[in-house]
Amino acid sequence: MVNTNTDEIQTLHFDYIIIGSGVAGLQLAVAMSKHHFFCAKKIAIIDFSKKKDNDKTFCFWEKGIGKWDNLVSKSWHQAYFYSSENKELRIDLTPYTYKKIQALDFYNYCISVLKKNTQFSFFYEKVDTVTETDNTVCVNTNQYNFSCSHLFDSRIPEHFKDQKKAYAYVDQSFSGFEIETNTPVFNKDNFTMMDYRFTWKNSTSFMYILPESGSKALVEYTFFAPFTISATEFETQLKNYLNIFFKGIKYTIKKKETGVIPMTNFPFNKQHTLRTTKIGTAGGWVKASTGYSFKRSEKFVNSIIQQLIAQKPVIGHQPAARFQFYDQLLLKILEKQNTKGPEIFYKMYKNTHPAVFFKFLDEETTLLEELKLILKLPYLPFIKALIQ
Ligand SMILES: Cc1cc2nc3c(=O)[nH]c(=O)nc-3n(C[C@H](O)[C@H](O)[C@H](O)COP(=O)(O)OP(=O)(O)OC[C@H]3O[C@@H](n4cnc5c(N)ncnc54)[C@H](O)[C@@H]3O)c2cc1C
Repeated sequence: MVNTNTDEIQTLHFDYIIIGSGVAGLQLAVAMSKHHFFCAKKIAIIDFSKKKDNDKTFCFWEKGIGKWDNLVSKSWHQAYFYSSENKELRIDLTPYTYKKIQALDFYNYCISVLKKNTQFSFFYEKVDTVTETDNTVCVNTNQYNFSCSHLFDSRIPEHFKDQKKAYAYVDQSFSGFEIETNTPVFNKDNFTMMDYRFTWKNSTSFMYILPESGSKALVEYTFFAPFTISATEFETQLKNYLNIFFKGIKYTIKKKETGVIPMTNFPFNKQHTLRTTKIGTAGGWVKASTGYSFKRSEKFVNSIIQQLIAQKPVIGHQPAARFQFYDQLLLKILEKQNTKGPEIFYKMYKNTHPAVFFKFLDEETTLLEELKLILKLPYLPFIKALIQ
């Protein structure tokens, strides 16, 4: 770090600046800390949040041993799926495991790795402006002027708010309780991926349950829809669900979790410039049709590391266009024919082996595997979406 100015506002120069110490920023910084190419580089991480809250529960599927296994607090090999017609599927996830990490464990681990390394400097500031020239990027906060050779930016572009209506777009909005019950009622070995026995009228909405033990679970009500409901309605619905499906149990609410993830084909992956790479949600790392990004971020981080080393344009991982097309079709259905969601997801889970289904969501299937999967789905909503 070089201090180039002793006036009131200091200017600090770094090789790289990362705006945002969330999932994307921390995964990228930790990957840099582990690669010798970056050992002489100075890297600043700027975030107004110190990441002291356990604000999210991250889940993802993966095969075998994974990069974050030391942080996994619970994992499952089987899942339940319930259709709106009360049909139960028991899904054997083999060869995948569904893993859960508490956000605070992830933040603490990454920050402790980075703080042991003097090349990383943390600044708890809100970034106000970014300006890019041919040779440098300037990042301004209230206290500092920073400059760097390359910026990684997790701020969602301002114009997304105004332009999102031009794209396929639904919100994944959810709210949940972590509860402890007076008696064991959950099967700790199976999580519930989607329970459509309890839906908001005419919508793709479902319960998602992550049991920690027989008497402790996160129960979350989730919408994949062009609308959402109020916080009070979310709470009422969660309580109604527990009263109906876990009749007679007494429970205490230990924690609440809420969130909104944009599910969209907005071209986040086209917002990079020569010296600024958008990362995380802002870089299109969230899978548009599922809202998952924790595991997917690894692919983008690996590509960025390779591109920096090879001195190529730093644009991260670029998924094949056909996967963006499938996402767009499903989003169009959720946007315009929202009632069709439960049947489509039921058919997807019922007719496709998880080994293929998760591979498809990871965008690693062959065209033939994709065709086989698509042919098992109700075709009318897709044809309508194609016409739209
Ligand atoms: C409640 C919740 C649960 C989720 N669960 C899962 C899950 O189970 N599995 C999964 O794969 N995905 C999940 N996701 C989706 C996705 O993984 C997360 O949203 C993930 O945090 C996205 O990573 P990110 O780095 O883009 O954003 P964030 O993790 O939100 O990080 C962005 C950071 O940038 C900082 N920042 C923003 N603006 C500025 C500014 N102007 N100046 C300085 N700092 C700034 C913020 O403070 C924040 O720390 C979940 C999302 C939510 C909201």
